[in-house]
Amino acid sequence: MRIVVVGSINMDVIASVDKLPLPGETVAASSVQYSPGGKGANQAVAAARAGADVWMIGATGSDPFAQATRNSLASAGVDIGHVADKPGATGMAIIEVGADGENHIVLAAGANGLLGPADVVRAASVLASCDMVLLQNEVPWSVNQEAMRIAKASGTRVCYNPAPVRKLDIKALEGVDVLVMNETEAAAFVATVPQGLDGDWSALGVLSDAGIGMTVVTLGSRGLVCYHRNGLIRLPAFPVRAIDTTAAGDTFIGAFAAAFDEQNVLYALRFGAAAAAIAVTKPGAQASVPSRSEIDRLLK
Ligand code: ADP
Repeated sequence: MRIVVVGSINMDVIASVDKLPLPGETVAASSVQYSPGGKGANQAVAAARAGADVWMIGATGSDPFAQATRNSLASAGVDIGHVADKPGATGMAIIEVGADGENHIVLAAGANGLLGPADVVRAASVLASCDMVLLQNEVPWSVNQEAMRIAKASGTRVCYNPAPVRKLDIKALEGVDVLVMNETEAAAFVATVPQGLDGDWSALGVLSDAGIGMTVVTLGSRGLVCYHRNGLIRLPAFPVRAIDTTAAGDTFIGAFAAAFDEQNVLYALRFGAAAAAIAVTKPGAQASVPSRSEIDRLLK
Protein backbone atom coordinates (compact mmCIF):
# COMPACT_ATOMS: atom_id res chain seq x y z
CA MET A 1 0.00 0.00 0.00
CA ARG A 2 1.02 3.60 -0.68
CA ILE A 3 -0.25 5.74 2.19
CA VAL A 4 -0.13 9.48 2.83
CA VAL A 5 -0.91 10.96 6.22
CA VAL A 6 -2.04 14.57 6.51
CA GLY A 7 -1.85 15.49 10.18
CA SER A 8 -0.11 16.44 13.37
CA ILE A 9 3.48 16.04 14.50
CA ASN A 10 4.07 16.54 18.24
CA MET A 11 6.68 16.11 20.90
CA ASP A 12 5.09 14.49 23.96
CA VAL A 13 6.65 15.69 27.21
CA ILE A 14 5.62 13.21 29.89
CA ALA A 15 6.16 14.01 33.58
CA SER A 16 5.52 11.23 36.10
CA VAL A 17 4.16 12.48 39.44
CA ASP A 18 2.88 10.77 42.58
CA LYS A 19 -0.27 12.85 42.60
CA LEU A 20 -1.61 15.20 39.91
CA PRO A 21 -1.37 18.87 40.99
CA LEU A 22 -4.52 20.74 42.01
CA PRO A 23 -5.06 24.25 40.54
CA GLY A 24 -2.29 26.51 41.88
CA GLU A 25 -0.31 23.60 43.34
CA THR A 26 3.29 22.71 42.38
CA VAL A 27 4.36 19.08 42.63
CA ALA A 28 7.71 17.40 41.92
CA ALA A 29 8.05 15.00 38.99
CA SER A 30 9.93 11.75 39.55
CA SER A 31 10.94 11.63 35.86
CA VAL A 32 10.43 13.44 32.56
CA GLN A 33 10.47 11.78 29.16
CA TYR A 34 10.43 13.22 25.64
CA SER A 35 8.60 10.97 23.23
CA PRO A 36 7.71 11.78 19.59
CA GLY A 37 3.95 11.68 19.08
CA GLY A 38 1.03 13.43 17.41
CA LYS A 39 -1.81 11.40 15.95
CA GLY A 40 -0.73 12.01 12.36
CA ALA A 41 2.91 11.13 12.93
CA ASN A 42 2.01 8.08 15.05
CA GLN A 43 -0.23 6.72 12.30
CA ALA A 44 2.47 7.37 9.68
CA VAL A 45 5.08 5.50 11.75
CA ALA A 46 2.64 2.62 12.34
CA ALA A 47 1.88 2.27 8.62
CA ALA A 48 5.58 2.41 7.67
CA ARG A 49 6.68 -0.14 10.29
CA ALA A 50 3.84 -2.39 9.11
CA GLY A 51 5.36 -2.39 5.63
CA ALA A 52 3.59 0.37 3.66
CA ASP A 53 5.26 3.14 1.61
CA VAL A 54 4.36 6.27 3.58
CA TRP A 55 4.46 10.04 3.03
CA MET A 56 3.77 12.63 5.75
CA ILE A 57 2.19 16.01 5.02
CA GLY A 58 2.48 18.15 8.14
CA ALA A 59 4.52 20.88 9.82
CA THR A 60 7.12 21.37 12.51
CA GLY A 61 8.34 24.62 14.10
CA SER A 62 11.71 26.33 14.46
CA ASP A 63 12.60 24.88 17.89
CA PRO A 64 14.90 21.89 18.65
CA PHE A 65 11.86 19.55 18.75
CA ALA A 66 11.44 20.00 14.99
CA GLN A 67 14.52 17.90 14.25
CA ALA A 68 13.74 15.26 16.86
CA THR A 69 10.18 14.72 15.62
CA ARG A 70 11.31 14.64 11.97
CA ASN A 71 14.04 12.13 12.81
CA SER A 72 11.52 9.81 14.42
CA LEU A 73 9.41 9.78 11.26
CA ALA A 74 12.40 9.42 8.93
CA SER A 75 13.95 6.59 10.90
CA ALA A 76 10.71 4.62 10.57
CA GLY A 77 11.02 5.08 6.79
CA VAL A 78 8.39 7.82 6.38
CA ASP A 79 9.06 10.32 3.56
CA ILE A 80 9.21 13.79 5.21
CA GLY A 81 9.78 15.82 2.02
CA HIS A 82 6.36 17.46 2.53
CA VAL A 83 6.77 18.36 6.20
CA ALA A 84 6.74 22.18 6.16
CA ASP A 85 8.89 24.50 8.28
CA LYS A 86 6.80 26.97 10.29
CA PRO A 87 7.91 29.72 12.66
CA GLY A 88 7.55 29.16 16.41
CA ALA A 89 6.97 25.99 18.40
CA THR A 90 6.59 22.43 17.17
CA GLY A 91 3.32 20.88 18.35
CA MET A 92 3.57 19.69 21.91
CA ALA A 93 1.54 17.53 24.30
CA ILE A 94 2.38 18.25 27.93
CA ILE A 95 1.33 15.14 29.84
CA GLU A 96 1.32 14.61 33.62
CA VAL A 97 0.80 11.02 34.71
CA GLY A 98 -0.06 10.20 38.34
CA ALA A 99 0.95 6.99 40.13
CA ASP A 100 -2.63 5.72 39.71
CA GLY A 101 -2.38 6.15 35.90
CA GLU A 102 -4.69 9.19 35.81
CA ASN A 103 -3.41 12.02 33.62
CA HIS A 104 -3.69 15.69 32.69
CA ILE A 105 -2.89 16.57 29.07
CA VAL A 106 -2.37 20.04 27.60
CA LEU A 107 -2.08 20.07 23.83
CA ALA A 108 -0.32 23.03 22.15
CA ALA A 109 -0.96 22.91 18.40
CA GLY A 110 2.10 25.01 17.51
CA ALA A 111 3.13 24.38 13.89
CA ASN A 112 0.22 21.95 13.40
CA GLY A 113 -2.15 24.90 13.73
CA LEU A 114 -0.24 26.80 11.04
CA LEU A 115 -0.60 24.01 8.47
CA GLY A 116 -2.91 25.31 5.74
CA PRO A 117 -4.69 24.13 2.60
CA ALA A 118 -1.82 25.59 0.52
CA ASP A 119 0.60 23.09 2.13
CA VAL A 120 -1.70 20.28 1.01
CA VAL A 121 -2.00 21.67 -2.52
CA ARG A 122 1.81 21.72 -2.77
CA ALA A 123 1.78 17.97 -2.08
CA ALA A 124 -1.18 17.23 -4.40
CA SER A 125 0.84 14.85 -6.59
CA VAL A 126 1.65 12.68 -3.57
CA LEU A 127 -2.00 12.61 -2.50
CA ALA A 128 -3.06 11.68 -6.01
CA SER A 129 -0.52 8.85 -6.29
CA CYS A 130 -1.41 7.10 -3.03
CA ASP A 131 -3.96 4.34 -2.36
CA MET A 132 -5.20 5.90 0.87
CA VAL A 133 -4.94 9.15 2.85
CA LEU A 134 -5.22 9.14 6.65
CA LEU A 135 -6.74 12.21 8.38
CA GLN A 136 -7.38 13.15 12.04
CA ASN A 137 -8.46 16.27 13.99
CA GLU A 138 -5.14 17.77 15.15
CA VAL A 139 -4.74 20.15 12.19
CA PRO A 140 -7.22 22.82 10.97
CA TRP A 141 -10.38 21.37 9.41
CA SER A 142 -9.70 23.37 6.20
CA VAL A 143 -6.58 21.19 5.74
CA ASN A 144 -8.67 18.00 5.95
CA GLN A 145 -11.21 19.45 3.52
CA GLU A 146 -8.51 20.23 0.96
CA ALA A 147 -6.99 16.75 1.36
CA MET A 148 -10.42 15.14 0.88
CA ARG A 149 -11.07 17.25 -2.21
CA ILE A 150 -7.80 16.23 -3.88
CA ALA A 151 -8.19 12.60 -2.80
CA LYS A 152 -11.72 12.36 -4.22
CA ALA A 153 -10.64 13.92 -7.52
CA SER A 154 -7.86 11.36 -7.90
CA GLY A 155 -9.50 8.19 -6.58
CA THR A 156 -7.42 8.04 -3.38
CA ARG A 157 -9.41 6.43 -0.52
CA VAL A 158 -10.01 8.62 2.55
CA CYS A 159 -9.68 7.16 6.06
CA TYR A 160 -10.74 9.64 8.76
CA ASN A 161 -10.13 9.31 12.49
CA PRO A 162 -12.24 12.06 14.17
CA ALA A 163 -9.87 12.45 17.14
CA PRO A 164 -9.71 14.47 19.31
CA VAL A 165 -13.50 14.78 19.23
CA ARG A 166 -14.80 17.79 17.34
CA LYS A 167 -18.50 18.47 16.81
CA LEU A 168 -19.17 17.86 13.11
CA ASP A 169 -22.25 17.51 10.99
CA ILE A 170 -22.43 14.03 9.44
CA LYS A 171 -22.71 15.81 6.07
CA ALA A 172 -19.06 16.91 6.48
CA LEU A 173 -18.09 13.22 6.24
CA GLU A 174 -19.36 12.89 2.68
CA GLY A 175 -15.88 12.29 1.26
CA VAL A 176 -14.93 9.64 3.83
CA ASP A 177 -14.54 5.99 2.73
CA VAL A 178 -13.39 4.53 6.07
CA LEU A 179 -14.20 6.07 9.46
CA VAL A 180 -12.21 4.78 12.47
CA MET A 181 -13.00 6.02 15.97
CA ASN A 182 -13.14 4.97 19.61
CA GLU A 183 -16.31 4.91 21.72
CA THR A 184 -15.96 8.53 22.91
CA GLU A 185 -15.60 9.75 19.35
CA ALA A 186 -18.47 7.53 18.15
CA ALA A 187 -20.77 9.24 20.67
CA ALA A 188 -20.38 12.44 18.62
CA PHE A 189 -22.06 10.74 15.63
CA VAL A 190 -24.58 8.23 16.99
CA ALA A 191 -27.18 8.76 19.71
CA THR A 192 -26.27 5.71 21.80
CA VAL A 193 -23.04 3.73 21.67
CA PRO A 194 -23.46 0.11 22.83
CA GLN A 195 -21.34 -0.97 25.78
CA GLY A 196 -19.45 -3.81 24.15
CA LEU A 197 -18.76 -6.16 21.29
CA ASP A 198 -22.07 -8.00 21.60
CA GLY A 199 -24.25 -4.88 21.56
CA ASP A 200 -26.72 -3.83 18.90
CA TRP A 201 -24.57 -1.72 16.58
CA SER A 202 -27.29 -1.03 14.01
CA ALA A 203 -27.16 2.69 14.95
CA LEU A 204 -23.97 2.88 12.85
CA GLY A 205 -26.29 2.53 9.86
CA VAL A 206 -26.72 6.34 9.86
CA LEU A 207 -23.07 6.63 8.84
CA SER A 208 -23.51 4.13 6.07
CA ASP A 209 -26.61 6.07 4.92
CA ALA A 210 -24.40 9.19 4.84
CA GLY A 211 -22.19 7.45 2.27
CA ILE A 212 -19.36 6.16 4.48
CA GLY A 213 -18.32 2.76 3.11
CA MET A 214 -17.01 1.32 6.36
CA THR A 215 -17.06 2.37 10.02
CA VAL A 216 -14.77 0.86 12.64
CA VAL A 217 -15.38 1.51 16.35
CA THR A 218 -12.45 0.46 18.57
CA LEU A 219 -13.33 -0.71 22.08
CA GLY A 220 -9.94 -0.82 23.82
CA SER A 221 -9.23 -4.17 25.48
CA ARG A 222 -12.62 -5.48 24.30
CA GLY A 223 -11.67 -5.28 20.62
CA LEU A 224 -13.55 -3.58 17.79
CA VAL A 225 -16.58 -3.67 15.55
CA CYS A 226 -16.66 -2.90 11.84
CA TYR A 227 -19.91 -1.93 10.12
CA HIS A 228 -19.90 -2.21 6.32
CA ARG A 229 -22.34 -2.96 3.58
CA ASN A 230 -21.98 -6.74 3.90
CA GLY A 231 -22.73 -6.66 7.63
CA LEU A 232 -21.04 -6.31 10.99
CA ILE A 233 -17.70 -7.83 12.03
CA ARG A 234 -17.08 -8.22 15.79
CA LEU A 235 -13.41 -8.80 16.57
CA PRO A 236 -12.22 -9.43 20.15
CA ALA A 237 -8.83 -7.95 21.13
CA PHE A 238 -5.71 -10.11 21.24
CA PRO A 239 -5.13 -11.08 24.89
CA VAL A 240 -2.01 -9.27 26.09
CA ARG A 241 -0.78 -7.68 29.31
CA ALA A 242 -1.27 -3.96 28.67
CA ILE A 243 1.11 -1.53 30.36
CA ASP A 244 0.58 1.69 28.35
CA THR A 245 -2.31 2.21 25.93
CA THR A 246 -0.91 5.45 24.44
CA ALA A 247 -1.32 5.41 20.65
CA ALA A 248 -3.27 2.11 20.59
CA GLY A 249 -5.79 3.66 18.22
CA ASP A 250 -3.10 5.28 16.04
CA THR A 251 -1.19 2.00 15.78
CA PHE A 252 -4.38 0.17 14.81
CA ILE A 253 -5.14 2.73 12.08
CA GLY A 254 -1.64 2.79 10.56
CA ALA A 255 -1.32 -0.99 10.44
CA PHE A 256 -4.94 -1.49 9.27
CA ALA A 257 -4.29 0.96 6.41
CA ALA A 258 -1.04 -0.80 5.50
CA ALA A 259 -2.93 -4.10 5.16
CA PHE A 260 -6.12 -2.64 3.67
CA ASP A 261 -7.84 -4.78 1.08
CA GLU A 262 -11.49 -4.19 0.17
CA GLN A 263 -11.84 -7.92 -0.62
CA ASN A 264 -10.48 -9.05 2.74
CA VAL A 265 -11.48 -6.53 5.39
CA LEU A 266 -11.19 -9.08 8.19
CA TYR A 267 -7.49 -9.61 7.46
CA ALA A 268 -6.74 -5.87 7.66
CA LEU A 269 -8.75 -5.56 10.89
CA ARG A 270 -6.88 -8.48 12.50
CA PHE A 271 -3.53 -7.10 11.30
CA GLY A 272 -4.33 -3.67 12.82
CA ALA A 273 -5.60 -5.20 16.07
CA ALA A 274 -2.48 -7.35 16.39
CA ALA A 275 -0.24 -4.29 15.89
CA ALA A 276 -2.20 -2.31 18.52
CA ALA A 277 -2.10 -5.23 20.98
CA ILE A 278 1.70 -5.30 20.73
CA ALA A 279 1.86 -1.50 21.11
CA VAL A 280 0.00 -1.57 24.45
CA THR A 281 2.60 -3.94 25.91
CA LYS A 282 5.30 -1.25 25.52
CA PRO A 283 5.62 2.34 26.84
CA GLY A 284 5.39 5.46 24.66
CA ALA A 285 3.69 6.48 21.42
CA GLN A 286 5.91 5.95 18.34
CA ALA A 287 8.39 4.03 20.50
CA SER A 288 5.78 1.29 21.06
CA VAL A 289 4.82 0.74 17.41
CA PRO A 290 5.71 -2.80 16.22
CA SER A 291 7.39 -3.92 13.00
CA ARG A 292 5.84 -6.09 10.32
CA SER A 293 7.65 -9.19 11.57
CA GLU A 294 6.42 -8.70 15.16
CA ILE A 295 2.84 -8.36 13.87
CA ASP A 296 3.14 -11.46 11.67
CA ARG A 297 4.45 -13.43 14.64
CA LEU A 298 1.37 -12.60 16.73
CA LEU A 299 -0.94 -13.47 13.83
CA LYS A 300 0.59 -16.95 13.31
P1 ADP B 1 -7.82 4.78 21.27
O1 ADP B 1 -6.36 4.68 21.61
O2 ADP B 1 -8.07 5.56 20.02
O3 ADP B 1 -8.72 5.18 22.40
P2 ADP B 1 -8.65 2.01 21.71
O4 ADP B 1 -8.29 2.14 23.16
O5 ADP B 1 -10.07 1.67 21.40
O6 ADP B 1 -8.25 3.28 20.84
O7 ADP B 1 -7.70 0.86 21.11
C1 ADP B 1 -7.58 0.63 19.72
C2 ADP B 1 -7.40 -0.86 19.47
O8 ADP B 1 -6.19 -1.27 20.13
C3 ADP B 1 -8.48 -1.76 20.03
O9 ADP B 1 -9.55 -1.92 19.11
C4 ADP B 1 -7.71 -3.07 20.25
O10 ADP B 1 -7.64 -3.79 19.03
C5 ADP B 1 -6.32 -2.58 20.63
N1 ADP B 1 -6.17 -2.51 22.10
C6 ADP B 1 -6.35 -1.45 22.91
N2 ADP B 1 -6.17 -1.77 24.21
C7 ADP B 1 -5.87 -3.09 24.22
C8 ADP B 1 -5.57 -4.05 25.26
N3 ADP B 1 -5.56 -3.70 26.58
N4 ADP B 1 -5.30 -5.32 24.88
C9 ADP B 1 -5.30 -5.70 23.59
N5 ADP B 1 -5.57 -4.86 22.57
C10 ADP B 1 -5.87 -3.57 22.87
